[in-house]
Amino acid sequence: PVEFALTPMIERGVVVGSVLSFRDISQRYALDRMKDEFISTVSHELRTPLTSIRGALGLLSHGLLNEVNDKAANLLRIAVSNSDRLVRLINDILDLERMQSGRAPLALRPCAVHELARQVADSMQPVADSAGVTLSVEAEPISIEADPDRLNQVLTNLLSNAIKFSSRNSRVRIVVGSASEGLALSVIDEGRGIPADKLESIFDRFHQVDASDSRQKGGTGLGLAICRTIVEQHGGRIWAEQNSGTGSTFRIVLPAALADSGPALMHPAPA
Ligand code: ADP
Repeated sequence: PVEFALTPMIERGVVVGSVLSFRDISQRYALDRMKDEFISTVSHELRTPLTSIRGALGLLSHGLLNEVNDKAANLLRIAVSNSDRLVRLINDILDLERMQSGRAPLALRPCAVHELARQVADSMQPVADSAGVTLSVEAEPISIEADPDRLNQVLTNLLSNAIKFSSRNSRVRIVVGSASEGLALSVIDEGRGIPADKLESIFDRFHQVDASDSRQKGGTGLGLAICRTIVEQHGGRIWAEQNSGTGSTFRIVLPAALADSGPALMHPAPA
């Protein structure tokens, strides 16, 4: 792969020509791939011992919570919640790596997105209730060719974020309708919003608006990278916008059917 840049040559304020430069970036691609493979191998190796630690902690906390003092019970709760976070992180890393390397092809079938949106909203209702957030779905009947489990994952991530970054007594709306390209789906919140200069970078792995977001809100920093990977595998687009009032809107457009149903590779293969 080659990266190129076009630089104008200016003499006394007048453009007299331009320089086109090429740079071979295959080494950067090779390094990126090595890094991804390394992360994936390490994650695999971490998952087994971590699952066993999590299992032991679960047994301990169920059997002993009535018998240990408050301090020990609190320590156990912290250990359980942190190992749950690590399990989520490792699963997200492995999931993303499988999708981006083309090892998780889509299982496409006709998918009624209005029904899927209602199902996901129903399953997130308890989370919304405990955050004091009102969820609503405005959906016109629309079916597209898609992988319902993957779309469910995208919507769940977006809704979970919308609820997580909203304050009590606010609303989160899912709007589903048709667009010239196929399907348009929005998740609209009235939460804290996203600064203009972060609207794009939040889709990168581990990019968060606030460094404390993952610690305080229990996220992994991979949710939106996973959403973008899945949407792009479906030949669609996803982006974030600032609302004119408070909060943010995540928009998705998806084609009604995929032109080529083969697995989408996110990284171009090195030459
Ligand atoms: P996380 O696991 O941290 O939620 P994501 O990739 O899903 O990871 O999101 C990345 C970051 O984008 C979040 O940590 C947060 O800073 C920001 N973000 C995502 N969704 C919203 C939202 N609806 N409102 C405000 N900020 C958001």
